[in-house]
Amino acid sequence: MVFFGEHFRKMKPGTAQPSSQMYSASSKTMPCLLGMSTEEIVRLLEEMGQKPYRGRQISAWIYKHRARSFGEMTDLPLSLREQLSAAFSIGRGEVLLERKSCDGTVKLLLGLRDGESVECVYLPYEGRDSVCVSTQVGCPVACAFCATGLMGFRRNLTAGEIVEQVLVAQDIAVREQGENARISNVVFMGMGEPLLNLEATVKAMKLINSELGISMRSLTVSTVGVIPAIRRLAEYRLPFTLAVSLHAPEQKLREQIVPLARRYPLDELLQACHEYAEITGRRVTYEYVMLAGVNDSLKHARRLGMLLKGELAHVNLIPYNPCPEIEGFEASPPEQIQRFQEELERCGVRATARVPRGRDIEAACGQLKGSLAGRKALGRMSEGCATSERTL
Ligand code: SAH
Ligand code: SF4
Repeated sequence: MVFFGEHFRKMKPGTAQPSSQMYSASSKTMPCLLGMSTEEIVRLLEEMGQKPYRGRQISAWIYKHRARSFGEMTDLPLSLREQLSAAFSIGRGEVLLERKSCDGTVKLLLGLRDGESVECVYLPYEGRDSVCVSTQVGCPVACAFCATGLMGFRRNLTAGEIVEQVLVAQDIAVREQGENARISNVVFMGMGEPLLNLEATVKAMKLINSELGISMRSLTVSTVGVIPAIRRLAEYRLPFTLAVSLHAPEQKLREQIVPLARRYPLDELLQACHEYAEITGRRVTYEYVMLAGVNDSLKHARRLGMLLKGELAHVNLIPYNPCPEIEGFEASPPEQIQRFQEELERCGVRATARVPRGRDIEAACGQLKGSLAGRKALGRMSEGCATSERTL
């Protein structure tokens, strides 16, 4: 989840990114290679009567060179390129909207083959580049403060559509920072609930690792707390970071903020997280959105401290980014976030107050898509920052 303010500039006609692969009717239904591992592509090519190295070449074009069409694969015979074009799609979509913040953050709305769209965010940091990816179109959980929740659930993303967001961010990294720029971290904190799309999420993590060369330790998957999926994930024993969105230290309050808490109660969730940390040996991160007057008192901090004391845990305090469509929540003042953090530390629980990124461009997850539909915020200026938007 990334924080954005609102500032729009429609892109001038003709300045859009090259639209190299608009989806034709057939490419919408063709099987996609993006989302397959090198091994799977090699097998596919062997079934077509080709040598295994052809599969490895194609995989390198898709994942390393980020090719958008078979035509670019110039070391393949023309006849094979034609054969592939007739039967398969690579699976790259179009960036529909792009917003750049003065801090370098770039938020993108990516068009999918069926006309749906999802957000992903490129986040350059000192010494590392990160991308925040979506796992679903919309989200069925409907947390009270979240713009994505307002959209309802449209569908799960495929593993290929998740990996594609990393490729899109890599394109942006190269454009912004030059050929040597590399996405080194991926956070699954965009639209949707990754653990309600577990299979595609795990496959995407494996592909990001094996095909893009990003270490599993540099991946973070954020969940609202789908207990059976946390238990299943533990069995994979993968060394990524699990982040659990807690938002409240009491069952009743949590139910008001996170409706899924009725199904997966707080005490059982914490037990599942405890077991997860034991099985994997990995510290669990707890996400806690700071909502003024709702969950941000020192009493809440002490209660949270009691729950997590002695656990292999770290708390991230997230400043709430207000959404124009959602009433009833305000961001906690920074001093309150600091007091909350200090109280947690006094209780023996490590905590970090997160620094919001891209505040000047668009709000938290789900808002870019929402604003494309409604264009509510069109023309509202940010505080003197050279933000730009491209509508592609
Ligand atoms: N569904 C998953 C992952 C996507 S949301 C989850 O809920 O964990 C990623 C994070 O962004 C969550 O911690 C969520 O609570 C937070 N978030 C969503 N909307 C926000 C907003 N408007 N301000 C601050 N954080 C927000
Ligand atoms: Fe879904 Fe996460 Fe938003 Fe809740 S916070 S509605 S789980 S995306």
